[in-house]
Amino acid sequence: MTAFSFVVPCFNEAQCLLLLHQRLTDSARTSFGEDYELVLINDGSRDTSWAIMEALAAGDPHLVAINLSRNHGHQLALTAGLDLCHGDYIMIVDADLQDPPELLAEMLATMRAEQADVVYGVRRSRAGETRFKLATAHGFYRLLSAMTEIDIPVDTGDFRLMTRRALDVLLAMPEQARFIRGMVAWIGFRQVPLPYDRAGRAAGETNYPLGKMIRFALDALTSFSSAPLKLASHAGLALSAGSGLIICYILFGWLTGRSNPGWTSVMLVVVVLGAIQMFVLGLMGEYIGRLYTESKQRPLYVVQAVTGGEARPRPRLGQVAETTATSESPGGNGTLPSR
Ligand code: UDP
Ligand code: MG
Repeated sequence: MTAFSFVVPCFNEAQCLLLLHQRLTDSARTSFGEDYELVLINDGSRDTSWAIMEALAAGDPHLVAINLSRNHGHQLALTAGLDLCHGDYIMIVDADLQDPPELLAEMLATMRAEQADVVYGVRRSRAGETRFKLATAHGFYRLLSAMTEIDIPVDTGDFRLMTRRALDVLLAMPEQARFIRGMVAWIGFRQVPLPYDRAGRAAGETNYPLGKMIRFALDALTSFSSAPLKLASHAGLALSAGSGLIICYILFGWLTGRSNPGWTSVMLVVVVLGAIQMFVLGLMGEYIGRLYTESKQRPLYVVQAVTGGEARPRPRLGQVAETTATSESPGGNGTLPSR
């Protein structure tokens, strides 16, 4: 085990890597001496990133360089690094140094003072971003927080410090579409914000063009909200209620002989079928929403601690992060893992 890991996904970041390596090393040394590792993931870069990583790793025993087979995208590259890192404390940063790694000391101090498991950076300001990016990000985070049941903090990227037990819960979530900042919020425990000023890129240009941003936003919305699926059922209900009134109006026209021949029957079919179709679509949406939730196979709950009593058998469905009662149960079904 290593005391601390920096985890950094890199895609076409050749121009940033030397400075990145220097600043990560300085920051990790300040807080952890020699007991740290730097985990860099090359996410199928098309520039010389991998060659530089290999050269850096040859000269630095703290550096672990991981080469993915192709570009898998930011969130999956990050997941690979989190899977393979060994630290008791883990900090995620971007390779372009927009998130200052020097904030490690402050995050660590906050984590200890607040007894937190996650300290996440909240962007007070963002330098060097286009107005379009600022506006879309602003809108996206607010829409997301309005649509989801879990409190996903706004204006927060993946820049954060986590404890091993929080990371272990995150890694127990096997879902494919990974919106990591939301998944970390889902974990629970004590999570504390730390405001910071986001710098501009050290070099190079953004690897999040509009297409990737839209895909990312869709992943986030669909992973954490089934509100869009419920749209049809709400529309169906509203239409059913409305169709009662419309039917009265149609029949009134028919009875008073003011409607054209054939109009009444056609309108009745349109209104009634429309309402039924919407309703059935909505019903399917409800099932698909539940299927989707099931298919994510997340742990059902996360236990933070158990105090008192005999050691419990290990729950099969949930995730136990820590316990304060860990006596061995003789011949039992296994005990809670202690850390
Ligand atoms: N990144 C990655 N794979 C990708 C796109 C981006 O690993 O397909 C990394 C990138 O190297 C950087 C981080 O994800 O470390 C954030 O990307 P970027 O800085 O381009 O996004 P922005 O800050 O502009 O949102
Ligand atoms: Mg960036």
